[in-house]
Amino acid sequence: MISFWERESFISYDFVIIGAGIVGLATALSIREKNPKASIAILEKGILPTGASTKNAGFACFGSLTELLTDVRSIGSENTLDLVKTRIKGLKRLRERVGETNLDFQQHGGYELIGKNELNAVDQLDSINELLYPIFKSEVFHLKPRLIKDFGFDENTIKTLVYNPYEGQLDTGKMIKYLLVIAAQNGIVIHTGAEVISLEESGKVIIKAKAHNSTVSFDASRVIVCTNAFTKKLIPNEELVPGRGVVLVTKPIPELRFKGTFHIDQGFYYFRDFHNRVIFGGGRNAFLEEETSTEFEINENILTILREKLNTTLLPNTSYSIDTIWTGIMAFGNSRQPIIRWHSDKILVGVRLGGMGVAIGSEVGEKLADMALENDV
Ligand SMILES: Cc1cc2nc3c(=O)[nH]c(=O)nc-3n(C[C@H](O)[C@H](O)[C@H](O)COP(=O)(O)OP(=O)(O)OC[C@H]3O[C@@H](n4cnc5c(N)ncnc54)[C@H](O)[C@@H]3O)c2cc1C
Repeated sequence: MISFWERESFISYDFVIIGAGIVGLATALSIREKNPKASIAILEKGILPTGASTKNAGFACFGSLTELLTDVRSIGSENTLDLVKTRIKGLKRLRERVGETNLDFQQHGGYELIGKNELNAVDQLDSINELLYPIFKSEVFHLKPRLIKDFGFDENTIKTLVYNPYEGQLDTGKMIKYLLVIAAQNGIVIHTGAEVISLEESGKVIIKAKAHNSTVSFDASRVIVCTNAFTKKLIPNEELVPGRGVVLVTKPIPELRFKGTFHIDQGFYYFRDFHNRVIFGGGRNAFLEEETSTEFEINENILTILREKLNTTLLPNTSYSIDTIWTGIMAFGNSRQPIIRWHSDKILVGVRLGGMGVAIGSEVGEKLADMALENDV
């Protein structure tokens, strides 16, 4: 039951955004930047945002050498270049919006560990550098084999390192915390614990949300669905599949010898330093079927692989212990492009961010805001 006061102050908005991940928050902030007077609310099912945006590894990256080579093969050079441009633009936008200090943004560069199976990629390093030259105006990828020993990696498994000075890293928790703070400072109302269960378009869009035993019906002139991997519950035909990712963090390792972001096996495994800790994730590709899930469970088989790689390849002569382990849920499809489209006259969808939503999330939000504002509310 809704009181008169609640009805007058909490229920009706110009824009309602569903999902408080990076895309939902960026969309709300871009709408605010373009329309200072609009009433905007975000409905988030979790007490905290509960998808990928607070669970990721905090790489500010745009594609490793082998990832970009795969992209060139599957979508061509021009589309690959466009993807990289969007990622760079999105990261710039995020840094400007939140601030590098608030993000704990650090640019120690990124590296790809090349084993014997990927050595042929090194032959194509020059062609990828040439492709990226118009964006960076200098060479992006460099070989640094001598660092294998300096970083303490297993020299039998790792044949060379490909270094990219433009890659950075950030604090994932702070990123979302500050986006929430900035949203609140800009008069964006955030209702947490509100799971949207149905959308009905009549004059306005009626948005039914449930929490515990109660339901509340909100209404809005425009609704933007930013629920990424969980979208099918609301829009069953959306073309995406969930992809679960496991991440672990070690306790601080005083003698840790590397800094930066690191990719293995086309980005299927990734690790970085975080204030003397190691954050390590991946392994989804070895159990694709099981990991096509929206359940936040930990696959022990993946954990075994991660532990083994830590012991044999990344920290072979270093003692460490694991502090904590978690999972996050991404969304994938038959293309690396996100879905940004009108679902109906008043409902927009911005989902399927893949494994680089930190990089592209702000740009996706900007596009959604432009579309939502196209026909003035
Ligand atoms: C383990 C892991 C590591 C990653 N590492 C990186 C990385 O290093 N760099 C990078 O660029 N990207 C990385 N990513 C990808 C990136 O985190 C995602 O692409 C991005 O966070 C997606 O943002 P989003 O806002 O679209 O979705 P989400 O963050 O999933 O947000 C969707 C929100 O919608 C809410 N929601 C869902 N259904 C409903 C509903 N019915 N009602 C109300 N709310 C709802 C959810 O609770 C959630 O908070 C990683 C992802 C994972 C899981």
